[in-house]
Amino acid sequence: MMSKPVRKIGIFSRIQNQSVAKTLRSLICFLREHGEDVYLEKETARKLGTTESALPFEKIPEVADLIVVVGGDGAFLGASRAVGLSGIPMVGINTGHLGFLTDIAPDNFREPLTKIMAGEYYLEQRFMLNTGILENGAITQSSLALNETVIQGNLAAHMIDFSVYIDDNLMYTIKADGLIISTPTGSTAYSLSAGGPIVDPSLNVIVLVPMFPHSLNCRPFVFRATSDVKIKFEIQDCTEDIIVSCDGQVAMKTSSSASILVRKSQESIQICHLKNYDFFNVLRSKIGFGEPIRHPEVREEIPENNVSDIAEEPEAELDMPEPL
Ligand code: NAP
Repeated sequence: MMSKPVRKIGIFSRIQNQSVAKTLRSLICFLREHGEDVYLEKETARKLGTTESALPFEKIPEVADLIVVVGGDGAFLGASRAVGLSGIPMVGINTGHLGFLTDIAPDNFREPLTKIMAGEYYLEQRFMLNTGILENGAITQSSLALNETVIQGNLAAHMIDFSVYIDDNLMYTIKADGLIISTPTGSTAYSLSAGGPIVDPSLNVIVLVPMFPHSLNCRPFVFRATSDVKIKFEIQDCTEDIIVSCDGQVAMKTSSSASILVRKSQESIQICHLKNYDFFNVLRSKIGFGEPIRHPEVREEIPENNVSDIAEEPEAELDMPEPL
């Protein structure tokens, strides 16, 4: 089944170096040659040194059929928070390191984009988290997150003492460095590093991962994403700083006299994939999922021209203590 062909494309990028700028320029040329209308996010256009077809980010979903993000997962996260919930399909050209969310390789974007423009793609929905800081009964700050919300203190290696409620039911009260509240999308990011599970992105669940809990009985927990999560601090002190960060890119500062409310966003972002997209393939190719444990002396890993050098290296003399 074909999806809707794409005629108008919005482009967003975090231009961090010349190589990204080069990819962007050839992308714009390619799309214009192909007869597409191209709109550049204003800051992206400024960094490219042009004002032609530049629009503020929030205007792009009004005129474009698709947003192409040129960058790493970080750029994709930023674009998702800015315009993802408008429902506009998004696809990424990966000029970052991992590129979990950005499917297309920068040196080979023409063929996949030609297919997408012809409607040979499908849309995958990913939900976001909406995090609010509740102070004196009112939400005073809020942010979206596609990966995760992290709650922690302001000092390194400093524990905070908090209770977690799921739909107003107490789950636990713990002392820890903090708490990661992750979407399935974020399960391969910070949550993974903290010992959380990898979650099928199509599941409607939220993952809670305590960060360095001072307990032997505290494990990651997965629950239905229709539930609300509330965090209250045990010692409510308006001088104790708490940082609530969303996707590691938005930092909201508050104190332990506040409570934090996290719930699933009502709308989802739409990620555009080619028909052959396969999440397991992404896991295998990007993080080596399922690779066997290798013995450190596996010969094939040593470049051939170095083998003889290594073999000829004299054995190091052991510095043994004199016998008594
Ligand atoms: P960054 O610190 O510059 O890069 C974080 C790394 O995480 C990048 O390699 C990025 O991939 C990768 N990443 C981001 N989202 C991912 C996802 N959903 N699945 C797998 N890998 C992902 O920060 P950033 O680029 O602005 O990204 C912010 C995210 O970084 C946060 O949401 C958090 O999840 C993650 N993070 C992880 C750790 C950790 O694992 N210890 C610490 C801090 C932040 P690209 O190279 O393609 O951009």
